[in-house]
Amino acid sequence: MSLFENTLAQIKRASDIMGLDKDIATLLSTPMRKVEVNIPVRMDDGTLRMFTGFRVQHNNACGPFKGGIRYHQQVDFGEVMALSAWMTIKCSVVGIPLGGGKGGIIVNPKELSKGELERLTRQYIRMIAPVIGPTTDVPAPDVNTTPEIMSWIADEYSKIVGHDAKGVVTGKPLENGGSKGRDKATAMGGTYVLHEFATESGMNPAETKIIVQGFGNAGSIMIELLTAAGYKLVGTSDSQGGIYCADGLDFAALSACKAEKGTVHAFEGGKAVTNEELLVQDCDILILAALENQLTKGNADQVKAKLVLELANGPTMPEADEILSKKGIPVIPDILANAGGVTVSWFEMVQNADNKYWETDDVNAKLKDIMVKAWNDVKGNKAKYNCTFREAAFITAISRVEKAIKENWKI
Ligand code: GLU
Repeated sequence: MSLFENTLAQIKRASDIMGLDKDIATLLSTPMRKVEVNIPVRMDDGTLRMFTGFRVQHNNACGPFKGGIRYHQQVDFGEVMALSAWMTIKCSVVGIPLGGGKGGIIVNPKELSKGELERLTRQYIRMIAPVIGPTTDVPAPDVNTTPEIMSWIADEYSKIVGHDAKGVVTGKPLENGGSKGRDKATAMGGTYVLHEFATESGMNPAETKIIVQGFGNAGSIMIELLTAAGYKLVGTSDSQGGIYCADGLDFAALSACKAEKGTVHAFEGGKAVTNEELLVQDCDILILAALENQLTKGNADQVKAKLVLELANGPTMPEADEILSKKGIPVIPDILANAGGVTVSWFEMVQNADNKYWETDDVNAKLKDIMVKAWNDVKGNKAKYNCTFREAAFITAISRVEKAIKENWKI
């Protein structure tokens, strides 16, 4: 099953439960626009290399298309389509006035020099410039794309249109129109939601063991925030492999190891495990903060956690979802758990448009309000429809998009 088929299956499930109008289901199952570009880049050795890039605009009934750009060797059109649809749903779950889009380039950025990466980024933006803009489609960071890359995008796009248009992209550095709190926003949003769940189910952080798959931007900050709140980290990983220690792992020591050796897999003070092994180790909460399709019908049955939280997009395949549901393991889905990132991206758009900037405490207080409200909305639908958190999150989102389509579109 392709990633986009997963998304369609999720939309269909929610549509069936809520009895969605067939036309709306059809619209949500089809991206509005798909762009593919062949990007020529002059490499440092003088040769010309072509890269393939995509931008998919899924739906803009609720507001401008919004979503990150990912640089990864496994990017393909289907993946970007799935991710763009999830953005429509995600923005709507948290009730922000944005639609869904996503971009990607098939590239392993670790193999490119900084100059090559900048030329690739700028050329990609020149090629998709006709379809993006501060009020039409606003990219952001995603896997392997950084605030610096966002700065190149803002600069290139501003040159193309001939005026300062840094609102064309979010996740920029602070000195170039970024928002305070954006760097930690995905993890921060996840912790707000987790805190609600933990409080309601009487979890005591000091007695709660967590595993976080992924030590990237979202995963490492989630570890930092949760260990500071008293949770006990027993396992983590990056693309090279994982580390597990039932007695606990220290965040600062792991960060030092990552900085020095390039991977947490080399950490001395735990058992080295593969990414697959990490997922089925003993813990209370499993946080998925790496890539998609990590929990499958092959391993979901062996998950020992009592709760799964998705900080990555699409880490649980539909068959795995069913297995976890039968085992009574709740999954707090990506479209709710990681929506903090795009929420603070929206704050960044608002601040750029206003040319007025907010303090971190203000950003976090506003983010918390939105995440807690979304959590309560999803919980309400979960109780109403007697379904999973994912189904309830889809229902919450889809009913809002349905309203926007019916009220705003003439079709
Ligand atoms: N790439 C992030 C996501 O998947 C953030 C998107 C954004 O800020 O627009 O939610």
